Amino acid sequence: MPPSPSASQPPVLRFAPSPNGRLHLGHALSALTNERLARMMGGRLLLRIEDIDRERCTPALEAALRNDLAWLGIAFDGAVRQQSEHFADYRVATRDLRRRGLVYACFCSRQEVRAAAAARAAASGEPWPTDPDGAPLYPGTCRASALGEGAREIEAPHVLRLDLERALTEAGEGLRYGVFDDEGAVEIVAAQPRRWGDVVLARKDAPTSYHLAVVLDDARQGVTHVVRGRDLEAATDIHVLLQRLLGLPAPLYRFHDLLVDAEGRKLSKSRGSESLAELRAKGVTAQQIRRDLGFA
Ligand code: GLU
Repeated sequence: MPPSPSASQPPVLRFAPSPNGRLHLGHALSALTNERLARMMGGRLLLRIEDIDRERCTPALEAALRNDLAWLGIAFDGAVRQQSEHFADYRVATRDLRRRGLVYACFCSRQEVRAAAAARAAASGEPWPTDPDGAPLYPGTCRASALGEGAREIEAPHVLRLDLERALTEAGEGLRYGVFDDEGAVEIVAAQPRRWGDVVLARKDAPTSYHLAVVLDDARQGVTHVVRGRDLEAATDIHVLLQRLLGLPAPLYRFHDLLVDAEGRKLSKSRGSESLAELRAKGVTAQQIRRDLGFA
């Protein structure tokens, strides 16, 4: 059983956007869902700026994001946590995992991973498995050569990967997490970390991946209830594994449906979905958005 937040502890929720593009209606839905649930449960709602990608996240986009949230009328409690200010914290965690032999250095580029996966598929005549995001599972090229390398610092161009099988041996099989509903009932779900393979935990240009930063920050901020889109549901498999390995408390989870465009594709910054700023410029009000999304 995953440890669940105690009934005496006031719930803590968070909205954790990345300032790597303009916010769209999908972000508004996520922020408003968190706001509604925090209110319903008498909890606190925190803001976290997920800006580990130092190339795509900019101060101007962050200012715009904060402005959009203020315009929507969402009030956050407590201090804002800014991931770019906590790189040292993430490094401590990766070093710890590396010392324990759970993380290894990988020198493969994305292209090399794809090529190695294609070669394995051709050799076996079977399709090479992909992770829930559609990327080929890491075929393990650098895993064997990394054995016994010790806890060297990150050096040449490469990433650090979690050795999934070793991690599962240490964490134990049968990882689970709780999904909560409006009535406070909790459904226990089995995590399937093997479908992700040896995930990346840090890159040369960023001392953490999304997976590592999110579990450390949820713990540091005392988050008890993680509410996010269904597109991040599968990632929870890796998050519960990292929580177990790092001795962090396990929050409860809930995944809301995603908004889709006219073609049925989820709204996305990279596909240029209409931003909240564009809607505002057209005269759409925050009240209309709240009403249209079902929060009025
Ligand atoms: N930063 C992520 C995003 O903007 C959300 C992270 C999370 O809620 O776990 O999609």
